[in-house]
Amino acid sequence: MPTMHHLELRPSLPPALSRLNELAGNLYYSRSRAVRDLFDRIDADTWVQVEGNPVRFLQLVPQARLDQAAGDSAFLAELAAVWREFEVHCSDERMDVLEPVINPQETVAYFCAEFGFHESLPIYSGGLGILAGDHCKAASDLGVPLVGVGLLYRQGYFQQCIDADGRQHARFEDLDFSHLPVRPATRDEQPVYVTLEFPGRVVTAQVWEARVGRVSVYLLDTDVVENTAADREITHRLYGGDRRRRLEQEVLLGVGGVRALRALGITPSAWHINEGHAAFSILERVRELTADGLPFDPALNAVAAATLFTTHTPVPAGHDTFAREWVEAYWQPHLPTLGIDGSRLLALGADPAHDGKHFNMTALALHGSRQHNGVSRVHGGVAAQMSQAFWPEVPAEENPLTHVTNGVHVETFLNRDLTRLFDANRRDWRDHLHEAGIGELVQNTEPSRLWSMHLSAKTHLVNDLKARLERQTKRFGQGHVRLKQRCRVLDQPVDEFLLVGFARRFATYKRAALLFHDRERLARLIETSPRPLVFVFAGKAHPADQPGQALLQTIHELSGEPRFAGHVLLIEGYDMGLARRLVAGCDVWLNTPEYPMEASGTSGQKAGVNGVLNLSVADGWWAEGHDHQKGVANGWSLLPTPESAERDDREADDLLTLLETEVIPLFDRRQAPATSDTKGLPVEWIAWQRHAIATILPRFNASRMVRDYAERHYRRAIDAGRLLARDNYRAAVERAEFEQALAAYWAGVQGKVLSVPGSAMQQGESLIIEIETTTPGLPPHWLRCEAVLGDGASRRVIVGELVESVDEQARGRHRIELPGDLAGEVDYRLRVVPTHETLLHPYELGRMLWL
Ligand SMILES: *Cc1c(COP(=O)(O)O)cnc(C)c1O
Repeated sequence: MPTMHHLELRPSLPPALSRLNELAGNLYYSRSRAVRDLFDRIDADTWVQVEGNPVRFLQLVPQARLDQAAGDSAFLAELAAVWREFEVHCSDERMDVLEPVINPQETVAYFCAEFGFHESLPIYSGGLGILAGDHCKAASDLGVPLVGVGLLYRQGYFQQCIDADGRQHARFEDLDFSHLPVRPATRDEQPVYVTLEFPGRVVTAQVWEARVGRVSVYLLDTDVVENTAADREITHRLYGGDRRRRLEQEVLLGVGGVRALRALGITPSAWHINEGHAAFSILERVRELTADGLPFDPALNAVAAATLFTTHTPVPAGHDTFAREWVEAYWQPHLPTLGIDGSRLLALGADPAHDGKHFNMTALALHGSRQHNGVSRVHGGVAAQMSQAFWPEVPAEENPLTHVTNGVHVETFLNRDLTRLFDANRRDWRDHLHEAGIGELVQNTEPSRLWSMHLSAKTHLVNDLKARLERQTKRFGQGHVRLKQRCRVLDQPVDEFLLVGFARRFATYKRAALLFHDRERLARLIETSPRPLVFVFAGKAHPADQPGQALLQTIHELSGEPRFAGHVLLIEGYDMGLARRLVAGCDVWLNTPEYPMEASGTSGQKAGVNGVLNLSVADGWWAEGHDHQKGVANGWSLLPTPESAERDDREADDLLTLLETEVIPLFDRRQAPATSDTKGLPVEWIAWQRHAIATILPRFNASRMVRDYAERHYRRAIDAGRLLARDNYRAAVERAEFEQALAAYWAGVQGKVLSVPGSAMQQGESLIIEIETTTPGLPPHWLRCEAVLGDGASRRVIVGELVESVDEQARGRHRIELPGDLAGEVDYRLRVVPTHETLLHPYELGRMLWL
């Protein structure tokens, strides 16, 4: 056999089109349809071939097409207009909405193991990554000076292929980084590398940069010639490999990530770590300070003050743990510099609620950060419960684990027509997404117009689904009859059938098959529904998740049963491109997680901003997002039932009942057509769609989310970090001394109630409580007394003041004045808590003495 040689001839970009290079190299294209349309316009065939990757497009497009575009004045005018928008987006002169909160010199470092910007850069697996991508995009919109830090995976997550028997095959292919919108990060025009001391060897990583508007994301890659073959594989796969590989990835992300920023000359003022994956960054920053001579405890305090930790999963298995000996082995060389022994290191990774055999990355993250949050109200509560043991004396509802509800980057996921409509109604809507009134963008739009915009997105989706089904059917080795069966509903007019979408990772807690819990009933519903029904499923199961893959197979098999054929579709290869179409073009977005396992869920938010109605278990964001006013709602909630053997029975029954009695009838009701050649509109459905956009857009977008993070957390992290660092870390040293004293003497604290108001008081009389604390070893000003009125959501905490230190070391008198607005019967409890000027949260010390 002669050898086959391969040659790729790349076109040269005519000077008139030179700006396309920069547009292709900035992930701004992932949110700007206008940029993507430029490439489509030059050559639609190549655009399809490269699957929406502009870098690759410019390498493969025929020269003639470029030359033609370069001579087309209409195209050049469009390019100039798009370029101008891009320039404005990236320019520093643009009014930065958030400048009063964070100024440009105060960089926030955002660490995450995955980032999802666009399907052309496949270094994400699901919600966490896309959230991280959306966070960067919104930071670019708001002018928050943020840099991302992550890993550049040579093979990404994996490509999914489902065979004729419904088995998932995971394909891993090497990405060629020269085909991607990334470039080597440089300093003084030299590529940047970092090195890490791994047991018995040094590992080198190259730093790459992805530009996202004006935000840079730095990605580490160990696939360099300096490394052994095994070490080159550290960054090959996202969530692939064994536990040791995972540990190496996390050391790389945490330690290497900090070193990469240093090597680039970037000095963050606040550090935001997402999941425990990046928690080793805490130890690396502590190591930097101890190397400069600061003792370990003040150093940890200084680092923690500037750090925010966000947990994204309520599933215990989602929290990484490693064998303790392994973690010790990777940190052994640094222990002398850190000034701690192995047991102190391991204590940082100890989860007080669990056995001590494993090093828990969430524990490290909680120990090394002063602010912590979950990603929805429900999840914040669950996370507070889960981590209760970290603040042993504090009730979970008062501990420092709070929440910031997730949001999505609207422009990235908004359908074409709605984007146009928003542009027409308010040119600068992108800069005002955090404002409450933004939902009014659709207030005055005619129902018929909203409906036709929806149908256009639906048509686009349906065409894409049909093309995908055709490819899948061919690959199954089946012919056109089977294809026709699969498309038999999709082939009908798009306003006739109800399209229900379910797409997300196939993790078992998401219960993809809940809809099929009572198959006979579902089959009857499909048969008797006044409108044809289509349920489309998509999603990847992790290659090691057998139950998840079994779910995929079940749905595949059901989709082949005659009663479900054409009504149940399973589409392979879920990625951001398919997600964008699904969340824009379905009628209903289905989500059936086991409560409270869905930390937030964001695909429903993407659907909601497009006017797609959510039908979801009231978990995660939807518990806050569902809204119902005067007969018009933005979707349907399935109220979770307590965990029990019958839970699936009941929730599946509720689901089918809702579909049968509410969803389908609402979709079916059409207004009588105005003329014989127009169709009747589902006016009530459209009113619900409008309500969905108006209620979900303002509250669940990424600008609102990033603004919340900036105002509630970044600002405080920056200030606290600065406070503790001042005067050569004086406050950090004092805080460490305070904590030591507290550890030694808290057990001896006593409080004695000297006086309380009489049991019946007249309105207007002053209500004074006096307490004496006795605190051998702790000065009285380190204690505070509080009265807690009522319980639950109506709880009020009244803070007292120290009125007298009877003697410096031991006794203090505290006075609490109850507010004058109390009325009726009031129950209250009294307590003593430690306090210090460096506290970011009143109970972060975990101590509370009830009297
Ligand atoms: C939004 C998104 C997700 C997250 O979906 P959930 O409903 O939160 O599970 C996962 N994958 C892709 C491709 C997405 O776009």
